[in-house]
Amino acid sequence: MAEWSARARLDGRSVGLVPTMGALHAGHLALVREALNHTDRVVCSIFVNPLQFNDPNDLAHYPRTLEKDAALLEEVGCHLLFAPEKDAIFAGFTPRRYDLSPLGDLLEGPLRPGHFLGVVNVVERLFYYVRPDQVWFGEKDRQQLAMIRQTASRERWPERIHGFPTVREHDGLAMSSRNLRLSEADRKAATALYRALRTSAEVAFRSTVQETLAAGHSVLASEPGVSVEYFAIVDPGTLMPLTQWGDLDSAVALVAAQVGPVRLIDNVTLHRPT
Ligand code: AMP
Repeated sequence: MAEWSARARLDGRSVGLVPTMGALHAGHLALVREALNHTDRVVCSIFVNPLQFNDPNDLAHYPRTLEKDAALLEEVGCHLLFAPEKDAIFAGFTPRRYDLSPLGDLLEGPLRPGHFLGVVNVVERLFYYVRPDQVWFGEKDRQQLAMIRQTASRERWPERIHGFPTVREHDGLAMSSRNLRLSEADRKAATALYRALRTSAEVAFRSTVQETLAAGHSVLASEPGVSVEYFAIVDPGTLMPLTQWGDLDSAVALVAAQVGPVRLIDNVTLHRPT
């Protein structure tokens, strides 16, 4: 893999990477298309990283559709699919205990112990093997994106990290491989996450932070199929919870909830009206 990338670069070509865990949907493919627009050779990696699953049940049931994924990648013109075996990618490798604070202590951090350490370790391994110039991550996993930016900057990783807006279903539900596991009723209930985020976006900056939080919470509370883990409004840079808007022009609302058998997350940017 490193050889393939090195050869592309020797030929003066840039290499883009889109790391995924497979069960590809239109959100993943949008990232691949974006990478194709900005780099000469694009690698999509598919690796269900055991290090980042703190729930063994979630890992066991994570959808795996490699053949279909390969066909989709070919259709969009992705140059290479990198789907390493677990033992290969972690061979002779001891996961590093990166210092992930302060971001790692917020939101998903305490709820999914070990998750971000697993993410950062696998991202380092993928970068090591692929040697990309530029890498694309989805804003859907906003804290993950922030965490990778924080680590890349601290570790002086040379790769350029890009975020990409969340791709949604027609009713607003953020596309996610885990959506495949939702029953029809769960699928309907799951729309409450985006409805709550939209509702908070409508009142944000016109009302207090507390009122904006309450508006989102009331949408979630009206959907019995949704069990909320957090609904938070945070500073867009630090992801620290806000108590007042201060002089910010934007903020981020994030939600995590259990819906049927799966845990879903989503977020939107809240803008100060002009
Ligand atoms: P995953 O396979 O879920 O680990 O996701 C791989 C990459 O795709 C991550 O950078 C995600 O943030 C991104 N991603 C997942 N879902 C979406 C979506 N609906 N829109 C845009 N990017 C996404």
